[in-house]
Amino acid sequence: MKEIKFVVDGMLLGLGRWLRFLGCDVVFFSGRRKNFLLRLAEAEGRTILSKDTRLCAEHPERCIYVHGENIQAQLQEVRSLFLQDYRPDLYLTRCSLCNQILQKVTRESVRNQVPEYVFDHHQDFRLCPVCHRIYWDGDHARNIKKILESLWVTR
Ligand SMILES: [Zn+2]
Repeated sequence: MKEIKFVVDGMLLGLGRWLRFLGCDVVFFSGRRKNFLLRLAEAEGRTILSKDTRLCAEHPERCIYVHGENIQAQLQEVRSLFLQDYRPDLYLTRCSLCNQILQKVTRESVRNQVPEYVFDHHQDFRLCPVCHRIYWDGDHARNIKKILESLWVTR
């Protein structure tokens, strides 16, 4: 599968976070300088997702206008345009804070870094190599996966 990389503008940071949950490579751009945004997208081969009608009209080759007014609708829009492949194996494989791919780590190595009840009840842990945040499949992760899963349910 060819990986599609995105950059989201300041209006779509929430969407960007959810695309990371799906496993997409997404960077956030919250500055105001349109030429910086375009240069970043060009340099890194990213598709811009934006709510800026003018920017999207002027750069249709790089920039997609996202119509949806809520995360669910926006996610569905991006999914139907770019993410046809059903890839649950990629869910929650990136750090939601810094976009890095998480690394599997042994349970023993996180013993002193997670709450005791988490350590006792979970086997699989993943670590962000940049911010060192530790992830596991708790209730929060399960809820996110359930919502992601609903994107593939045909209505
Ligand atoms: Zn991180």
